[in-house]
Amino acid sequence: MATSVETNSILRAFACKECEDLTMDDCFGCRNKHIFCGDCAGDLDFVCNFDNCNQVLKIIANPLEKMVQNTSVVCKFSENGCTWNFKAKDMANHLEECNFAPYNCVGRKLNMFLCSWKGLKKDAIEHFKESHSNFGNCFPFTHKSFFKINFSNKINLKGFHLINAFNKDFCFCCQSDSTKKEVNVMIYLMGRKTTAKKYLLSFEIYTTENYFKKVTFVQPIFSDADDEDEIKSNGINVSENILKQFVVDDKLHYRLRIVKKEFKPRTESASSENEVRKPERKQGKNFEMAKKMNNPFLRG
Ligand SMILES: [Zn+2]
Ligand SMILES: [Zn+2]
Ligand SMILES: [Zn+2]
Ligand SMILES: [Zn+2]
Repeated sequence: MATSVETNSILRAFACKECEDLTMDDCFGCRNKHIFCGDCAGDLDFVCNFDNCNQVLKIIANPLEKMVQNTSVVCKFSENGCTWNFKAKDMANHLEECNFAPYNCVGRKLNMFLCSWKGLKKDAIEHFKESHSNFGNCFPFTHKSFFKINFSNKINLKGFHLINAFNKDFCFCCQSDSTKKEVNVMIYLMGRKTTAKKYLLSFEIYTTENYFKKVTFVQPIFSDADDEDEIKSNGINVSENILKQFVVDDKLHYRLRIVKKEFKPRTESASSENEVRKPERKQGKNFEMAKKMNNPFLRG
């Protein structure tokens, strides 16, 4: 679609040399920076006719679009309170993470439970603490965090926790599937994608009789701004085979740690960590992934 240019001389520099219109569609240019719209370039057999230039016309980045993309804009949610100000081309990335964007309850986001709350992203954690205290308090994260999941062969069960680690809020969900006889675990950061990439989840299941009989899964952590399907598909799947060995009295004991990627375990804990590498246990794709990611717990 072309727009007529009357007086604006800056815009005129971007107008087609043939029809003098501005186009937001395909744009062609010659090496002497003469610009043509797609229609005219085609009519001219892609040879510049301006001022006997005769240079070949090649497709170029639309200069108007470039100008618009580099223009400073305010966030679409500024009336909700967002004060961000950035280039138009960065808008899409920001909107995924904007704290002032409309947001559903975190439980609903991952299909954990029904809740009709709708507010702003920045208030989602507060809402959760106020309205869903039945899931337990947000637990401050320590390196001695041991928990258990109720597991049943008969019904599906769900668990949800807020975790505050490194002064950031993480959502941790576990679901047991009685039909597939497996437990799924996932975690995400309430925050920016780039921040989430700095952390790993270490999820160890063990037996109460012998802590050193254990399986450790290590997973990347995603952010709530990431694609939901991606968060789900990167969850940890504890298979029936492993559950058989670890569920005692309908309970699966686990230890949860969120670690910074550069975290290095202290040497005195090395012997217990070595247990993880015992070869006789079947390790799933999570284990393989952990090795690939140069996981600090599995370092030899
Ligand atoms: Zn034209
Ligand atoms: Zn030319
Ligand atoms: Zn914003
Ligand atoms: Zn809710």
